[in-house]
Amino acid sequence: MSLVKQRKTTRRITVGDVPVGGGSPIAVQSMTNTFTRDVDATVAQIKRLAQAGCEIVRVAVPDMESASAIGEIVPRITIPLIADIHFDYKLALASARAGAQGLRINPGNIGDGHKIKAVADCAKSLGISIRVGVNSGSLERSIVEKMGSGAPAMVESALANIRILRDMDFHDIKVSLKASDVPRTVEAYRLISERTDTPLHVGVTEAGGLFPGITKSALGIGMILAEGIGDTIRVSLTRDPAEEVRVAWEILRSLGLRSRGPEIISCPTCGRCRIDLFDVAHRVEEALLNCPASIKVAIMGCAVNGPGEAREADIGIAGGDGNAVLFKNGRVVRKIDQENMVRELLEEIEQILGDPFLNCDPA
Ligand code: SF4
Repeated sequence: MSLVKQRKTTRRITVGDVPVGGGSPIAVQSMTNTFTRDVDATVAQIKRLAQAGCEIVRVAVPDMESASAIGEIVPRITIPLIADIHFDYKLALASARAGAQGLRINPGNIGDGHKIKAVADCAKSLGISIRVGVNSGSLERSIVEKMGSGAPAMVESALANIRILRDMDFHDIKVSLKASDVPRTVEAYRLISERTDTPLHVGVTEAGGLFPGITKSALGIGMILAEGIGDTIRVSLTRDPAEEVRVAWEILRSLGLRSRGPEIISCPTCGRCRIDLFDVAHRVEEALLNCPASIKVAIMGCAVNGPGEAREADIGIAGGDGNAVLFKNGRVVRKIDQENMVRELLEEIEQILGDPFLNCDPA
């Protein structure tokens, strides 16, 4: 039985060549943290993100220099780029003209209707989409005065701005309603999904560093996706954005929605473990970090659960005393010593996958 409810029907839009909504695969997004005006650094980071599985990238556009840098960045990357705009609608116009395939505007700080209209007209003429990015911390003053900054207020802001754009005959919209806490974020997405067919970009904003960030994102994004809501996701971590992409894929995989790259199962170890399993698991994980191929690898500490898990995986080991039994496709292959464990395991994985995939020296 699937954990995930049937996905809600939304309109299909595109960001560059990536479809979002309308039953398309849930797209993985991230955002660079380089200075966008530093073209080389930004391109290098986007390439790393794409290698990790990022499908749409967003860059901050705080000034005109950053907007024009987009013109140099886009031809050098392979995934669509969204310009993230706050305060100044002219930056949106400049970014779109420079080649951004999508715009993200925050209606709470972009200003009045004629500015939004100028952005919509420009996006329409260039055939690019707009995300209305509502944040609980920067809602329009009129809405905050009337409704506060809870989930209903976020939904009100989003719907009002969707209406403005649709009244201008602009329909290539997606929307996000992000708060930094899980309950408000989940409530906001539940409420809006009842009231619009606009595709939804899902995330918990400012989720924090590694542990709080992963926990909040997995719970928040996971709960929303499990209810059949959401068309694209962004995990937000105060970390290397490539880690956001990895977490996003783990969330999608855990829910059975999409998968990419190896699935590594490893036990937490206990007093029965007589090999350095942490080291083996860490080195195998590192070596497979950017491997896009799907393979299940089990790295288990002893004979209690080891053989069962290793047999169910494509390849696996069950630890013994300073050695481990290697399993492949459900069968015992041979015993390997601790000192050769990582190298031999990776060589076997390489044999299964066929292509060179390692990104570190397994020796
Ligand atoms: S597989 Fe063995 S070593 Fe690992 S946690 Fe279970 S009992 Fe402990």
